[in-house]
Amino acid sequence: MTPTRQRETARQRLTDGPLDVFIIGGGIVGAGVARDAAMRGLRVGLVDQHDFAFGTSSRSTRLLHGGLRYLAQGRLGLVHEASVEKTILHRIAPHLAEPLPFLFPTYRGNRHWVLWQLKIGVKLYDILCQGRNLGRSTWLDSREVLERVPGLSATNLTGAVRYFDGLTNDARLVLDTLRSAERSGAVLLNYAKFHAAARSGGWTCELEDRVTGNALRVRSRTVVNAAGPWAEQVPHSRVKLRLTKGIHLVVDRARLAPPDSVVMTEGKRILFAIPWRERTVLGTTDTDYAGSLDHVTAEAADVDYVLQVVNRFFPAACLRPAEVISVWAGLRPLIASPRGKPSDISRSHQIRNPEPGWWDVAGGKLTTYRRMAEQTIDAIARWLSRNYPRAPQVAPCRTAGQPLLPAAETAGVSGIEPPPCTRDVVEHYCAREWAVHVEDVMVRRASWQQYCPDARQRAERVADWMGPRLRWTPEIRAAELQRYRNAGALG
Ligand SMILES: Cc1cc2nc3c(=O)[nH]c(=O)nc-3n(C[C@H](O)[C@H](O)[C@H](O)COP(=O)(O)OP(=O)(O)OC[C@H]3O[C@@H](n4cnc5c(N)ncnc54)[C@H](O)[C@@H]3O)c2cc1C
Repeated sequence: MTPTRQRETARQRLTDGPLDVFIIGGGIVGAGVARDAAMRGLRVGLVDQHDFAFGTSSRSTRLLHGGLRYLAQGRLGLVHEASVEKTILHRIAPHLAEPLPFLFPTYRGNRHWVLWQLKIGVKLYDILCQGRNLGRSTWLDSREVLERVPGLSATNLTGAVRYFDGLTNDARLVLDTLRSAERSGAVLLNYAKFHAAARSGGWTCELEDRVTGNALRVRSRTVVNAAGPWAEQVPHSRVKLRLTKGIHLVVDRARLAPPDSVVMTEGKRILFAIPWRERTVLGTTDTDYAGSLDHVTAEAADVDYVLQVVNRFFPAACLRPAEVISVWAGLRPLIASPRGKPSDISRSHQIRNPEPGWWDVAGGKLTTYRRMAEQTIDAIARWLSRNYPRAPQVAPCRTAGQPLLPAAETAGVSGIEPPPCTRDVVEHYCAREWAVHVEDVMVRRASWQQYCPDARQRAERVADWMGPRLRWTPEIRAAELQRYRNAGALG
């Protein structure tokens, strides 16, 4: 079936008959809810106004983590929940959950991060994973630290702890979760914006297909608002958010090549230098944000801040803005708390049912998305059984036990490392993964935009391969490439 025909079919199935669950937003939260609901036998539809994973879920630090920082804040429940989830994701999606060692160096005179406290912290961290962390934590004296990470600042170094979290590929996690949902019967449509809803019996939702410009009407017993940073703006939403921006930079490993991830401190904040195959990812910032949600960009001051911290920890590196291969900037949809520094605001999630059949699901982390989805569908199942007593019982949650996808479905097209840039891979993204624009392939499906210094040239090849699949005329091809360049891809 051609991609155009696939969209037509999806539109038809969305509008055909009443759904049990209609989801607004195809980030990690919406994708998780769609998978959970579809695997329990519910009729599920999901739309995204942009591409799937366009929002925060392609702009994170890409860690599956309990959050050592939250441990320091005494948030044991949050750390425990995320730690358990990180091990579940390692089990169900091993291609997207790689054990990643972190080296956290400590320095004399830094009262926020003290070696003996961190030693206790990392042991507790392992215990909170129910003793099944992705690797066992240890500690090193200053000589061992410098042997392991040559180039790290040695002045006042007192030692380090070494602990484990997981490395993922955030956008791939969304896409593979959606592919899994689709295999269980969920209907998915990107570039379809939710505009309004009215309640009469169930919900009637008004949408716009942004590819064709056509209006769509979807009926559903329940609606889930999983619109991330946009969640406040969705009609009927009662979500209150405090948005904070975080940016990341990618540099070549030839310029900075820590063997482990290195934790760099700035007061109470922590930043990371994360090995990503032939590159190193640096980030992040955490600043209040009030600009456009659709065009989040990294300012020169954000880039300078990250480089200044990195150059303090790796004085010989002397990294400069001109050496940055790519940048991405995203918004944390944190549950509102007007007080306190952005980095002090809780990362816990909230599931609310403000009107009959309507759920707002907000906050949380990439790491905890499966659990958020399970809790949401548990609540919806209870509500459905009270309000539709003759409907069949909703099956229990199975998402923790079932692999996300069979290994054969992900080989060569999905992983932490970008796939080879070939026609077959690009055609797969068009035929099987809903790619509509050049940017969809370059940024979210293949990460070539973030990884490859020659991304612009690759985009030309990608356009050549997408064109015949999507029936592009030369004018559409040129417009597609212009659209890709205008997006500045990520900031
Ligand atoms: C800098 C940074 C670093 C982070 N690092 C980590 C990390 O390392 N580990 C971790 O676990 N978490 C991390 N997080 C948190 C994590 O990325 C987010 O919690 C998560 O991605 C939020 O997902 P979401 O689905 O709620 O939102 P989003 O991914 O933003 O998805 C919401 C979607 O809703 C769509 N939408 C909005 N309005 C409409 C509408 N009207 N109609 C249709 N669709 C609509 C949007 O287009 C969007 O795609 C980080 C966040 C940031 C910003």
